[in-house]
Amino acid sequence: MMNYLKIFVAILMCFAMGAFAQSNVIILATGGTIAGAGAQSTNSASYQAAKVPVDQLLLGVPELNRVAKVRGEQVFQKASESLTDEDIVLLAKRVSALAKRSDVDGIVITHGTDTLEETCLFLSITVHTDKPVVCVASMRPSTAMSADGPLNLLSAVTVAADRQSRAKGALIVMNDEILSARDTSKMMNIKPNAFISPWGALGMVLEGKTYYFRTLAKRFGKHSEFNIDEISTLPDVRVIYGHGNAKSDLYYAAAQAGAKAIIHAGTGNGSVAGAVTPTLLELRSKGMQIVRSSHVNAGGFVLRNAEANDDQNGWVVAHDFNPQKARILTALALTKTSDPKEIQRIFWEY
Ligand code: GLU
Repeated sequence: MMNYLKIFVAILMCFAMGAFAQSNVIILATGGTIAGAGAQSTNSASYQAAKVPVDQLLLGVPELNRVAKVRGEQVFQKASESLTDEDIVLLAKRVSALAKRSDVDGIVITHGTDTLEETCLFLSITVHTDKPVVCVASMRPSTAMSADGPLNLLSAVTVAADRQSRAKGALIVMNDEILSARDTSKMMNIKPNAFISPWGALGMVLEGKTYYFRTLAKRFGKHSEFNIDEISTLPDVRVIYGHGNAKSDLYYAAAQAGAKAIIHAGTGNGSVAGAVTPTLLELRSKGMQIVRSSHVNAGGFVLRNAEANDDQNGWVVAHDFNPQKARILTALALTKTSDPKEIQRIFWEY
C-alpha cells in the first residue's frame, strides 16, 4: 500500500513539475526601432534605429523571466530597410537550426518594422517547424515615453512560450495582437497600431495569456515545399510601381540589371497602363516572369484574367499578397520552377 502511495505522489510531482516548467525561448535580435534610441524621451519619431544590444533590451524587461527562460542572440544590428536577401536567408537558417534543438521551445525575432512583414513571411514558408516563430517590433524607440517595445517583447515571448502557438505559421505580435505573418503588413508609419491584416488577427495576448480565435488556411512550415535547409541564394526579383503617366523604362532597366521576375505593383486590380503592356509582353517573351500585384493601401486582391488576359499573356497574379510579399514568394517559387502556371499555383496555395 505504502509503495502505491509513493508511486502516486511521484506521478503527481512529475505532473506538477511539467506544468510549472518554463519554456526555453531564444530571442534573435536584428535591430530596428525596438532597439532604437532617441536623444530625449519626447523623441518618439526622430531617433536612430538599431542601437541597443539584445542583452540590454532583455535587462529592460525583467518580467520576461517570469514567462520563460530567455536567452538573447544578436544576429544583426540593422535598420530593417537595409536587410538583404542574404541576411534573411542567414536568419532563417539560424531559426531552423535552433528549432531543431530539444532545448528550444520557441523563437522570437526582434526586427525593424519596415520589412518585418517580408522577413516573417519568408520564415513562415521556409522554416520546417511546428515550434512558435514570433516576430516582434516597436513603433517607438526604447528611450521614448510610452515606448511600446517592452510590452510587445513580453507579449511575443508569452506567445512563443505557449504550446497553443505551435503549428500556426510564423506570427507577428504587436500592440496586443497575434497576427499571421502571411497577410499582415505595416499599414501606417507613425501609430503604434501599425500592423494590420485585411483578414483580421489570429488572436490576442493579454496579461500573460494568449487567446486564439482562428487559424491560417494556407501552406506554411512543415507543409511548405520550400525548406531553408536547401536554399542558399534567392533570385533577383524587382518591384516596379504602377501609377498614372507610367513609362516603360524602369521595366527594361530591371531586365538589364538581371532580374528574373518583375512584380508590377499595379493600381487597383493590379492593372497595367496601356503604355507599359507591350513592354511586359515583350519581356515575358524573353523569359522574364511578370507578376501583377496591387498597391492599394488596405490590402489588394488581384483577380486572374480581370484587367488583363493573364492566361494569354503568361503572367501571374499575386492574389492577396502585396508587392513586397509577392517579391518574397516569387523569389522562392523561382528556386523550383520557371513555369508561370506553377508559380501561379504557389500563389494560390501559400
Ligand atoms: N526603419 C527602421 C527599421 O525598419 C525603423 C523602423 C521601425 O523599426 O519602426 O528598422
